[in-house]
Amino acid sequence: MTAIKLSAVYKTYPNGFCALNDINMEIPSGEFVAVLGASGAGKSTLLRAINGLDPATAGSITVGDLAVARHSYRKIRRQTGMIFQHFNLIDGLNVMTNVLTGRLANRHWLSSLFYLFSEPDYRIAEDALREVDLLEKAWNRADTLSGGQQQRVGIARALAQQPGIILADEPVASLDPKSSVEVLDLLKKICTEKGITVLVNLHQVEFAVRYADRIIALNQGRLIFDGQPAQLDQSFLNTIYN
Ligand code: ADP
Ligand code: MG
Repeated sequence: MTAIKLSAVYKTYPNGFCALNDINMEIPSGEFVAVLGASGAGKSTLLRAINGLDPATAGSITVGDLAVARHSYRKIRRQTGMIFQHFNLIDGLNVMTNVLTGRLANRHWLSSLFYLFSEPDYRIAEDALREVDLLEKAWNRADTLSGGQQQRVGIARALAQQPGIILADEPVASLDPKSSVEVLDLLKKICTEKGITVLVNLHQVEFAVRYADRIIALNQGRLIFDGQPAQLDQSFLNTIYN
């Protein structure tokens, strides 16, 4: 089954800048895909176009069997877990409540307003925290955790959505090497064991080669490589970062 499909996708920002230029790709369910590219290549733009947070301006994108379009944004965001470079946790809240916010898309707006969660929501959040090995920190404030732990809370929050795909935008860019490996190991495990499709923006080639089933490289908004890690060679890598 196809998890994500892009056909002739363009993104032109209001100032006229073309950040995605004729992107075509098809990602099967359960694949672990790394998106490589220098700063400004269009990696974040690509992820935001896929979940409809900042829609493409031409072409078509489908997520599962849904076309990314105004009427489906909510549904697509509900089934898409996002992970961010700076974790985007609510610092003053405890870890459990942060993970429970992953359930908000499924709640009535009134319960969302008061952070009212059901018993099943708590069980889902607990399972997610167990998955990232942080259940013992459930009642600690999020901002008392280390960076690596906070990113694992970010992953648990994404898991609490019970997503079909996870989009991670530079999830290890703010972490030390050891925490980076822990976070990528975790994303890989989630992909392999739960069959969740993972699309992760990275700028470290070594990590992409080590973890990804497939690598996509962007340069100035164009897709310049789409293949297996073993097919990447050094001279080509030089062109990605130039
Ligand atoms: P990456 O994540 O690979 O670093 P981005 O997707 O953030 O790259 O940005 C791609 C290009 O689009 C960059 O040149 C950036 O300056 C430009 N860009 C991003 N957001 C906007 C915007 N809102 N308006 C105009 N240009 C933008
Ligand atoms: Mg970016």
